[in-house]
Amino acid sequence: MTRIFNFSAGPSMLPVPVLERAAAEMLDYEGSGMSVMEMSHRSKVYDKIIKDTEAKLREVMGIPENYKVLFLQGGATLQFAMVPMNLLVKSGKADYVVSGSFSGKAYKEAQKYGKISLAGTSKADNFNHIPKQEELTLDPEADYVHICHNNTIYGTTFKYIPETGNVPLVSDMSSCILSEPVDVSKFGLIYAGAQKNMGPAGLTVVIIREDLVGEPQPLTPVMMNYQEMVANDSMYNTPPTYAIYILGLVLDWVKDMGGLEGLKANNEKKANLLYDYLDSSKIFKTTVLKEDRSMMNVTFRTETPELDDAFVKEATAKGFSNLKGHRAVGGMRASIYNAMPVEGVQALVDFMKEFEAKHSE
Ligand code: PLP
Repeated sequence: MTRIFNFSAGPSMLPVPVLERAAAEMLDYEGSGMSVMEMSHRSKVYDKIIKDTEAKLREVMGIPENYKVLFLQGGATLQFAMVPMNLLVKSGKADYVVSGSFSGKAYKEAQKYGKISLAGTSKADNFNHIPKQEELTLDPEADYVHICHNNTIYGTTFKYIPETGNVPLVSDMSSCILSEPVDVSKFGLIYAGAQKNMGPAGLTVVIIREDLVGEPQPLTPVMMNYQEMVANDSMYNTPPTYAIYILGLVLDWVKDMGGLEGLKANNEKKANLLYDYLDSSKIFKTTVLKEDRSMMNVTFRTETPELDDAFVKEATAKGFSNLKGHRAVGGMRASIYNAMPVEGVQALVDFMKEFEAKHSE
């Protein structure tokens, strides 16, 4: 068996101990005689799995008691509509910071449901940085402010939490959740597709402050109604049972890694290895401003698209997969989520050095 270093932006690598445990429990979960995949979501055994998973997430992230945790489907993209349908109910106004592709999609989708304003954007600079607090135009009457915490495609991240006064802050944390500690109490709502740091695709986690759970807009489908999902403990219908179970295993691994503090230290080590080399390289350059660099998605390029292509091709042949950058940015992107080991990043840097030596002769 050969496992390669997979730098995919998502779905991405999972920790090997998690996959091994899932494999060991695949045919007979704890003497139940069946796989978790085959289990009724209403069974006692499964009830314990989902409750334990929620408890572990609360513990690991330090989620305060006045927040609800929901296990939903539809990806982070469904939240682009679900957030406005449920939260645009007082003034009907919301402010969006557009710092990349996904926040742009969220901004566009929300416009169907109310009066949406652009609070700030870095579009003119091809999203190479995050708008600063003092550049944001915020309406004190808005029902919420929306940001995308980590821009998966462009490789930038919010290093500050925007100050929004009494207006709830909503954050898409799909590509950075569980990568470092976060003060949940600073947010009204956090959402994340699971397929980067949490587990398999198909699960979306929503963490919502209790007072924001209320009557949504009238045409909201029941499956998109936070109040219904809260009332039914995420089980109005069949939840993504297996993905929730894997999240539980991932959270055990997170605890073994020293919790979010431990993962942060590991993630910083990996990101520094790569950025330090990029800063010293003569042929590779990062594509974003230093102060806003993402710890999860590292975007870079060479001097020409031809050399970029040659690099991706050679890297793939050596077992470094999915390094091609998103078409909106070009160049390369190394996604180094929690499960990417330090050795994977070190091996990539060693390979980049070799490539550089060969191509700068
Ligand atoms: N938001 C961010 C930050 C993402 O990285 C992604 C996917 O990569 C999405 C939203 C869309 O997520 P999904 O595919 O789960 O709808």
